[in-house]
Amino acid sequence: MDRLIIASNRLPVSIQKSDEKLTVTPSAGGLATGLKSYHKNNNSIWIGWPGIDAESEDEKNAVSELLSKEQCLPVFLEKELVENFYDGFSNATLWPLFHYFTEYTEFKERYWLAYNKVNELFAQTIIENAQEGDTVWVHDYQLLLLPNLLKAQRPDLNIGFFLHIPFPSYEVFRILPWREEILKGLLGADLIGFHTYDYARHFISSVKRLLGYDVDFNTIALENRQVFIDVFPMGIDYEKFESKALEVQSKPIQERSKMHQDIDRFLMGMPDRKLILSIDRLDYTKGIPERIKAFKHFLTKHPEYKEKVSLLMLTVPSRVDVEQYQNLRSEVEELVGSVNGKFGSLNWNPIIYFYRSLPFENLIELYSSSDIALLTPLRDGMNLVAKEYLASKTNHKGVLILSEMAGATKELGEAISVNPNNIQDVSDAIYKALTMSVEEQSKGVTTMQKRIKRYDVHKWASEFTNALTNSQKKIAEHQARKVSAKHLEQIKNDFIKAKQKVLFLDYDGTLQRFYGNPEDAKPDKEIYDLIDALSLNKSTELVIISGRDKNTLHKWFDGKQVTLIAEHGAWIKHVNKDWKGRNKNQVKWKDNIRPILESYVDRTPGSLIEEKTYSLVWHYRKADIELGILRALELKTDVSNFLLNQELEILEGSKVIEVKETGINKGTAASEYIKDTDYDFIMAIGDDWTDEYLFRELPETAFTIKVGTNKSDAKYYVDNYLEVRSLLKKLINTK
Ligand code: UDP
Repeated sequence: MDRLIIASNRLPVSIQKSDEKLTVTPSAGGLATGLKSYHKNNNSIWIGWPGIDAESEDEKNAVSELLSKEQCLPVFLEKELVENFYDGFSNATLWPLFHYFTEYTEFKERYWLAYNKVNELFAQTIIENAQEGDTVWVHDYQLLLLPNLLKAQRPDLNIGFFLHIPFPSYEVFRILPWREEILKGLLGADLIGFHTYDYARHFISSVKRLLGYDVDFNTIALENRQVFIDVFPMGIDYEKFESKALEVQSKPIQERSKMHQDIDRFLMGMPDRKLILSIDRLDYTKGIPERIKAFKHFLTKHPEYKEKVSLLMLTVPSRVDVEQYQNLRSEVEELVGSVNGKFGSLNWNPIIYFYRSLPFENLIELYSSSDIALLTPLRDGMNLVAKEYLASKTNHKGVLILSEMAGATKELGEAISVNPNNIQDVSDAIYKALTMSVEEQSKGVTTMQKRIKRYDVHKWASEFTNALTNSQKKIAEHQARKVSAKHLEQIKNDFIKAKQKVLFLDYDGTLQRFYGNPEDAKPDKEIYDLIDALSLNKSTELVIISGRDKNTLHKWFDGKQVTLIAEHGAWIKHVNKDWKGRNKNQVKWKDNIRPILESYVDRTPGSLIEEKTYSLVWHYRKADIELGILRALELKTDVSNFLLNQELEILEGSKVIEVKETGINKGTAASEYIKDTDYDFIMAIGDDWTDEYLFRELPETAFTIKVGTNKSDAKYYVDNYLEVRSLLKKLINTK
């Protein structure tokens, strides 16, 4: 990989100012630790906001100088911009929406404008510093527009994007007024990574529904590029947590920190005392009030645990200026008070509540000393705390209760999984955890440890960057087949030299763009002019080879100097001749198949049946795209039961399923066409799956050209119908 540029909202270090002095402190958190070694070793640059509102040019220079020692470059943001971009669009629009808190989601134009502005400032800084072919890895929801801003100005850059929060279901995402802009922004990346398959599939679904792009497994075919989607569940620096846990637990009691001694004293205060731990930022996504209610329910249901078990809740202050967070804090503290007031005694607080952040060593003491981790977010992209807790359990004893709404649940199948909204469920899980045998605990913890040790944060970063390098290779291979000026020159020279030429041209998607209604795709003046001009060349035969029915082609092209092949080859009309069809008896099979297709039309709004001489076609271009794909699969299975012993086959095209008589396809039709003439120039252009027959059956020497970025057997490809037209124009006025 060439040089790596990392872009994230915050840098791995922050700059603070006190008494007019600037200091650098390392930022905590998975992203910083995970990429730190990459950052240092690979001569990479990290670009982000330094977290300080620099007051003067001198101060900016001083900050830049401090950061350059850390291989970091600042993007300076003014206070008001930060408010609208960070507190506004990032945290009051995207954060709640992507976590399914639609009721908290604010849509404000000034937030959106600031978000655009900041993404542009990031793009500008990167472009000023990026060398030819550099790799840029963009992180998280604050920079969703950045990939496309970069790609548009610097197509040479290899761009990866990773989303650290959930991507919501289409039904939620579609609420966003700027939904198309956000998707297009992201699609500037060559590779987009998510924590879980669910987030990836939600994203793909939104892309399909809102932008209409074709998706083949994990590849999105844009007009002129491919974008790869994949899943990379983020890990932790396992070794760091494990070794620190070994260190703190092996310390003699008297050398332990005050916090650690307090925990020891608490646990020894009574035989069988148990400590349940929860750690999270004080955020409405974390399910803190629901957790307290569940613990209250547990204490009511199991009074035998009074004085024996406490819930230690470390809530870390977050977004403290925002009203919702202030309200949440009041609610949580009131609930804690009510539980402690109701159940507590002189010797025992059911809930031990901290509202602060703790140094790393104290965190490890909490992780490694507690018996149970109770982590119940209502939504969480990953939840690293769950993994950190497990890594710190060096004695392999412990139980993890984990919300099924956290991304981490996908990898931690041995945890007790709960629905955080179900108070009864969570209370039962607490009881189950408290009564779990040591053997069972150890089995679960060890299995999960192995998994998260193997796929740690270093592995995560290297898997992502390797996938990015691979995507670059795939893109380069694809790019090599794109019709270039050099290819064009060659095509033109061969065309001029040749004595007998034939051009096979598909119609829809090749000469003309797609319309929702197939009727609207009629030829425009440019198409007619092209055909007229090309057919002036007497040594050139033009063939329009289409899946369309013969009547439509007749209506559109009668009188033109062009051969028409309709219904994939079932009908042919040579220039100035009549239509010739297959000599077959008319087609009783349709009476069996038609009712099946009709039932699909009834159940798939927007879909329709087209009847051709030798085939029946079910179109779903105007139906809900995902329903259409699903029904197409079903329909194929249904229909295949009727195909036995009948000379029928299913042809799958672009948003169509066609049931037709066997042996009719564009490949056989074209072979038939060329068999008696010695053509020394053959060209075929098509966009659809059905054109693959054509590409496969024509002689090796033919120029076969695919329209679009989907997989193909064609030798070359062009981006769209406009490029087809301009290619054909190059062949005009040649002899
Ligand atoms: N954490 C911290 N200081 C604290 C408490 C927690 O640095 O006092 C860290 C914790 O170790 C974890 C991160 O904060 O790495 C929380 O990450 P998580 O994915 O659980 O939730 P997020 O806050 O990103 O939503």
